[in-house]
Amino acid sequence: MASFFGHGLVAYTFTKVIDKQNLKLLLWLALFSTIMPDFDVVAFKFGIAYEHPLGHRGFTHSILFALLWAMLLSFIFGKTNKLVYFLVLFFSTVSHGFLDAMTNGGKGVGFFIPFDNDRYFLPFTPIKVSPIGIRDFFSEWGLQIILSEVKYIAIPCLVVLVFLYLLKARK
Ligand SMILES: [Zn+2]
Repeated sequence: MASFFGHGLVAYTFTKVIDKQNLKLLLWLALFSTIMPDFDVVAFKFGIAYEHPLGHRGFTHSILFALLWAMLLSFIFGKTNKLVYFLVLFFSTVSHGFLDAMTNGGKGVGFFIPFDNDRYFLPFTPIKVSPIGIRDFFSEWGLQIILSEVKYIAIPCLVVLVFLYLLKARK
């Protein structure tokens, strides 16, 4: 994965772009949805191989999973604004797989599981893969990760957020 910060910032940006009502609950659900796919690491504990469709970066990183997850949460939490919930949560969840597919480590992402069990990377993989442990994160390696995420995640997100802010300020 990219780091929690990278995933979270992308969810925050999607929420701000799509949700005009600034719903707190939706923002929290979106943040949770961007890290949720990585709960699949428990697969290792059950002896499920990385390459397995239910292994790490498998089904929970697929487009179908993002659709189902967003439908479920928007059904439970959305009221008259189910579509806003759905869009924010779908993009937040699916963005996790796309960020993973832009990292330079691990195996690719099973975007099309269960229809196609192959794993994919995007054609460019500029984001350094993030370690799970917190100690590694604050090392030289950690610095490299932060720099790559600033360049390829934080700056694009900030550009979008500043643009939104300016649009609002003009009104
Ligand atoms: Zn992941």
